[in-house]
Amino acid sequence: MGKVKGFDHMKLIRQYAGGHKHLITLGRFIAAISAVIVLVPYYDLWKIISIAVNNEDTGRIGHYAWQAVILTVSSLLIYIAALLCTHIAAFRVQANMRSSLMRRIITLPLGVFDEDGTGKIRRIVNDSTAATETFIAHQLPDKTVAAITPIGLMVLIFSFNWKIGLICMIPAAIGFACMMTMMGKGMQEKMREYQNALDVMSSEATEYVRGIPVVKTFGQTVHSFKRFKDAIDGFGKWTTGYTLILRWPMTAFMTCINAIFVFIVISAFVFSKDGITAGLILNIMYYIIVTPLVTVALTKVAYSGEAEMTLIDALKRVESIMEIKPLEESRSGRKPADMSVELKNVTYRYKDASRDAVKDVSFRILPGEHVALVGPSGSGKTTLAELIVRFFDVTDGEILIGGAGVKDIPSRELMKLVSFVFQDSRLIKKSILENVRMAKPDATEAEVLDALKKAQCMDIIEKLPEGIHTVIGEKGTYLSGGEQQRITIARAVLKDAPILILDEATAFADPDNESKVQAAFEELSKGKTLIMIAHRLSTVMNADRIYVMDDGRCVESGTHDELMAANGLYNRMFDEYSRSVDWKVGA
Ligand code: ADP
Ligand code: MG
Repeated sequence: MGKVKGFDHMKLIRQYAGGHKHLITLGRFIAAISAVIVLVPYYDLWKIISIAVNNEDTGRIGHYAWQAVILTVSSLLIYIAALLCTHIAAFRVQANMRSSLMRRIITLPLGVFDEDGTGKIRRIVNDSTAATETFIAHQLPDKTVAAITPIGLMVLIFSFNWKIGLICMIPAAIGFACMMTMMGKGMQEKMREYQNALDVMSSEATEYVRGIPVVKTFGQTVHSFKRFKDAIDGFGKWTTGYTLILRWPMTAFMTCINAIFVFIVISAFVFSKDGITAGLILNIMYYIIVTPLVTVALTKVAYSGEAEMTLIDALKRVESIMEIKPLEESRSGRKPADMSVELKNVTYRYKDASRDAVKDVSFRILPGEHVALVGPSGSGKTTLAELIVRFFDVTDGEILIGGAGVKDIPSRELMKLVSFVFQDSRLIKKSILENVRMAKPDATEAEVLDALKKAQCMDIIEKLPEGIHTVIGEKGTYLSGGEQQRITIARAVLKDAPILILDEATAFADPDNESKVQAAFEELSKGKTLIMIAHRLSTVMNADRIYVMDDGRCVESGTHDELMAANGLYNRMFDEYSRSVDWKVGA
């Protein structure tokens, strides 16, 4: 049971256990010994009942009773020794898994954290490795015990009176069959669905909570809450459905297991026709005590099957991260000749997507030029910008910085060349100083202050209780979306990279912040190659060139005046934009 085609989970566990893998085998072996020893007292019990019923030398009862006590205690001690072995091995496996995961995650393209959600990755690193640890430490030895106990009990039951034994086994066998229907392959699928529903709910919860400052500033409560609520509803619906599926097999299982008593009573009637002998009383009494234990043992088998499915699911999740191809690190180590950015027939399709997010886009940005990308939502602007910094690698085509392919530039160098200010850049729960310093760990406090000044953040700093040492998100020091944005701009100022990408960076800025954010950007982009993606078309009018994206393609390009004259998509978008601004002002 539990073996899934093409997935040898025990082999994987042994790999992670490394030198400790023998400890797992040893632990299971010791657990098996304890399981056998614990059965002997049931023989003692039969002897004790036999002495009592047959009126034999009652002095011998004490002998058997002590033997039972001693064996039970020693079996317990032996079992503890087994747990000790499996725990040591389990901790090792968990530690190895986590370090392999962390080593792998560092090498992954940044886009993965977008595509799969950071919440999901965090859950895999924490929960899936913890599930594996629990499985090895507790469930593996329990599984060995669970396999031996019912067999041992059945041997006992059949050896004393095979006829009554056989009758008792009927409900136990039916119950076992019911259980098997619950453990089938479909259940594996269910287990995965369950984990997925949990993942969605937890990442939506994280998003919801993290987005609260922004949500509050813009009054988007209903929209942002809806996704979280949908996730909860989805989870609730799933669990109800799952429970309903299990209703009948579970009812049948519990009925069969508890029906054992009925069968014992029936067999007592059947066999008492020949007269009630001492032997019959002995066996009936014995079976009333022992047969329910078969139930308990079988239930344990059921749980060990379920635990195994959880484990397989956890391991598959860990493997899903380990299987992601790391970003290829170039060996050529080329250096860009200047700060121009060139796209040659760039196409990108997201994993599992049915259509290209970016289709055959080509353009060239000269060093120091300021260009804008505009276009309807979903037209591929963000994807295009992310491709430049290798969040993903292009599916087709090529991206060059200063004549060097981005794949040939060592990724550390590439990161130094480009600053990326995201639409939803968020601050981490540290002081403002540390938040800004992330861009340049060796920056002095004076440098950080200077960057904050250039990013127009001094009004924020002044109102905070401990200035730049204030920890964001602590003791009620929350910043609005626009304020957070300005702090992240200070980060970019400090980094001082020659190429700058701003992705709809002013979209969340409240009116109060907008002019300051705008001024901060102007300071930031002086003398730099700038690619700005903008919602508010007023901010792109002064760009050297504007590229208009539509459905993954670059459909128009030129200056604002040229594009207005061309009377195409840009003209229509600008009209619409002007009207919405008028409307807002009017309202
Ligand atoms: P824009 O920034 O212009 O709004 P995007 O680059 O975000 O557009 O998206 C372009 C297209 O790619 C859209 O159709 C979007 O649904 C799709 N897309 C964006 N991100 C992902 C992702 N992580 N996985 C799959 N498809 C995505
Ligand atoms: Mg976008």
